[in-house]
Amino acid sequence: MSAAATDTLAAAFRDALPGARVITDALRRLAYGTDASFYRLVPQAVVVVDSEPEVLAALAVCRKLGAPLTFRAAGTSLSGQAISDSVLLVLGDGWRGAAIGPDAGTIRLQPGVIGGHANRLLAPHGRKIGPDPASIDAAKVGGIAANNASGMCCGTRENSYHTLAGMRVVLADGAVLDTEEPASVAAFRQSHAELLLGLAMLSRRVRDNAQLAERIRHKYRMKNTTGYGLNALTDFTDPIDILAHLMIGSEGTLGFISSITYRTVPDHAHRATALILFDRLRTACEAVTALRPTPVAAAELMDRAALASVQDQPGVPATVAALGDDAAALLVEVRGEDEAQLARHLGAALAALAGIPTAAPVAFTTDAAQCAALWKVRKGTFPSVGSRRATGTTVIIEDVAFPVERLAEATHDLQRLLRSHGYHDAIIFGHALEGNLHFTFPQDFGTAAEVQRYARFMDEVAQLVVHRYDGALKAEHGTGRNMAPFVELEWGAEGLALMREIKQLFDPSWLLNPGVILNDDAQAHLQNLKPLPAAHELVDKCIECGFCEVQCPSAGLTFTPRQRITSWREIARRSRAGEDTAELRASYDYDAIDTCAGCGLCATACPVGIETGRLIKVQRGEKLGALAQGIGRAVASNYGAVSLGVRAGLTAASLLHAGIGTRAMGAFTGGIRKLSGGRIPPWTPLTPSAARFKPPKLSHGSEPVVYFPSCAARSMGPARGDAVADNLPTVTDRVLRRAGFAPLYPERMSSLCCGQPFESKGLLDTAGEKAAELEAALRAASDGGRLQIVFDTSPCAYRMKRLLEGRLQVLDISEALQELVLPRLRIEPIAATVAVHPVCSVRKQGLDGTLRAVAAACAAEVVQPEHVGCCGWAGDKGWTTPELNAHALRELRASLPADCTEGYSSSRTCEIGLAQHSGITYRSIVHLVDAASREAT
Ligand SMILES: Cc1cc2nc3c(=O)[nH]c(=O)nc-3n(C[C@H](O)[C@H](O)[C@H](O)COP(=O)(O)OP(=O)(O)OC[C@H]3O[C@@H](n4cnc5c(N)ncnc54)[C@H](O)[C@@H]3O)c2cc1C
Repeated sequence: MSAAATDTLAAAFRDALPGARVITDALRRLAYGTDASFYRLVPQAVVVVDSEPEVLAALAVCRKLGAPLTFRAAGTSLSGQAISDSVLLVLGDGWRGAAIGPDAGTIRLQPGVIGGHANRLLAPHGRKIGPDPASIDAAKVGGIAANNASGMCCGTRENSYHTLAGMRVVLADGAVLDTEEPASVAAFRQSHAELLLGLAMLSRRVRDNAQLAERIRHKYRMKNTTGYGLNALTDFTDPIDILAHLMIGSEGTLGFISSITYRTVPDHAHRATALILFDRLRTACEAVTALRPTPVAAAELMDRAALASVQDQPGVPATVAALGDDAAALLVEVRGEDEAQLARHLGAALAALAGIPTAAPVAFTTDAAQCAALWKVRKGTFPSVGSRRATGTTVIIEDVAFPVERLAEATHDLQRLLRSHGYHDAIIFGHALEGNLHFTFPQDFGTAAEVQRYARFMDEVAQLVVHRYDGALKAEHGTGRNMAPFVELEWGAEGLALMREIKQLFDPSWLLNPGVILNDDAQAHLQNLKPLPAAHELVDKCIECGFCEVQCPSAGLTFTPRQRITSWREIARRSRAGEDTAELRASYDYDAIDTCAGCGLCATACPVGIETGRLIKVQRGEKLGALAQGIGRAVASNYGAVSLGVRAGLTAASLLHAGIGTRAMGAFTGGIRKLSGGRIPPWTPLTPSAARFKPPKLSHGSEPVVYFPSCAARSMGPARGDAVADNLPTVTDRVLRRAGFAPLYPERMSSLCCGQPFESKGLLDTAGEKAAELEAALRAASDGGRLQIVFDTSPCAYRMKRLLEGRLQVLDISEALQELVLPRLRIEPIAATVAVHPVCSVRKQGLDGTLRAVAAACAAEVVQPEHVGCCGWAGDKGWTTPELNAHALRELRASLPADCTEGYSSSRTCEIGLAQHSGITYRSIVHLVDAASREAT
């Protein structure tokens, strides 16, 4: 597209949609354009749409200017179907609607709902959606349906195609059809009679051709996502049904799914899991055949290489390491709606396995933690290849299906093929009950020779799967660009022709996602390969899967962790090539560095454990000049005095507020902030007053415990006018004493800090020095580590736990309250609905449940809004970059029930933003325990 055409396109979008949602700058187009595949196309424009009218408006622009467009949900696709070099239409916040039907038998979902979220909504009803891709906690319903994604348990019976109950769809010509609204269907039958007649005729043609119809039925006994879902033509006769079912697996090439209604499936809570080891792969596959007719929920095959990749992980039996070269394992799960049904299903599975030789006795466990550990082992296979690969290489995950009765033979053939092409690090695993195998291997696309090796290998894979086994070239991940050149090989000329006719009927101008599913270029799978150049050792293992995005508070405002890494890779590549990076770097400073909360939640979702905030903190440090570094060091070594200064400032602000009132104060401080060019933090009525705390004298006869009030808690008291006047250290000290403890305080407390504020600013050395100083003080106070140490602020507790690695006994405040305090007090829960906000460090410590439990013990009702993760305050970003805090908490207010008037957390600074964006007070959880507890009698 020429520059002029791009400008015209952007201008037309800006006329039709809110301008801020039309993105045309180079860095964001690159970053937003990336998906989880190994293909790279950079869109000319990225357009964020929030509603159906906006989709219609965007489509109209594309139709008028002849600009192809690609829909984007979560961008976790692996086959290159979610990228575009034209227009990328990204789902914004407006697509998260969900409505559960009668008896939770159905659920109507908008395409922006994350699959895992739909399941959390259904969980209280003992139901879930059928499709279960491993990416379900990142992937969105639009992408799940448009890829016909499936996973370990859903098989061919519970995928989107088979659980579809209704759909609302927007076609390329701007028509909207809602199959659940009779009026819409009737109108559509009139307005689109030609399209419907075309579909009906295709269906009749196929059903009249017995050989073709049988071939289609055969292909869908397996999982199959190669090409369009031709089974829609054999399974249905009403063209409305055909249309809706063709949309499943159409990868955004036939229309836009505006909402989908699924029939839900049972989510059985009673489960038993076993990792069954076999000396021979063939025996493992015989076990699969034996298990298939029994009610097992999943049987995951792992070949020897897959087992080797995880054999050092916790939870893997020691016997695995000693297994021979042809060994294999099955991870088998059995489920039941109650204990009795589970026992029956387990009995059936064990009977099927009887007589099949295993390398160790079969041992099912029903212990939830052990089951989870076994699944973690299975799910660790793919990341293990991802994290072991050489920098600069990508990781390929292929996805084929074989007739299950020939699984052993096919797996051996695949192993041989991989070896013969030199892929010695490859592993094979998959959903054995469906004959669906994934093989994963590192691949270098940096040289023509390597690309050719991949090309030769893929040709042979295609021949093997299609000609030797009549299998499916894509079972779950969609055809995309990766398998488009092979659709004809799998389906033959007749099948391909049918698909072309389908595309022509839906989208005669081929405007929607061209090049995906159908592609005339026989080399399309080798074009536009994504470079993954070395960028920084902290992030080089990133496979750009996008699992991190859902955790990130700046997602949708600026960048996500994946987008930060994609951007930095490109900047690093260009720098090395001697190209100009000034423009990209300028955008990177704000989009990547300034708006990163550094919360680390991305690492909790990353399959290879990357914490992108660590890279950003290093880059922040590099950006700081010598002067800033020096100031940081000076602040650190005069911490007591600086804290006094902060308190003085807060006192002055509070006095002024009292004197001139809220409105005048807002205007006054707003003016000063403007004059300072945004350098002076914004004032709000929720700005804390200064805290004053002098540790009281020790009470005799009580049990000693060390209490370390954080510097934030020592400096910042409640906001002026808060109904609770006491500051956090005062309340914590009181609660500890009430529970019979004698809090001990470290010496020279006013100068102590864990170093977190310095780390956030990129002053990593200074942060380390403050932490070491605190460690020494806590060691002394805790009698060399004998006593437990209570931290009242979770980010500090988390940081010190991490750095101390068990050298001292640090307790987060939620742990201290649950383990030490609550058991010793009489609790009278307050009659209120309270909100809890587990800050990032609580989540990373795995203490969100503990925080909720403490709140639940002390209040009548506890709520925790689903869509609120990291609050984005990030130490001081609520003051320096308030838009990050506002964005991260944009859904907080609406997610709280009307009767919820107070919220609890465990970080004073986060609580400022939480209060500001919710309209209710947020305080430390200690305040709630203080209000609800009495001395035990
Ligand atoms: C580590 C990893 C593991 C994975 N495991 C599995 C697995 O077990 N099983 C599996 O099936 N897949 C798996 N995938 C692939 C991928 O996650 C799934 O296919 C997922 O369903 C894609 O959803 P998404 O929201 O990311 O969609 P996207 O990638 O954004 O889009 C997918 C396709 O849908 C189209 N689309 C998006 N929204 C709409 C809409 N509203 N209307 C019409 N078309 C739309 C897009 O144009 C694109 O063609 C995995 C991916 C990764 C990275």
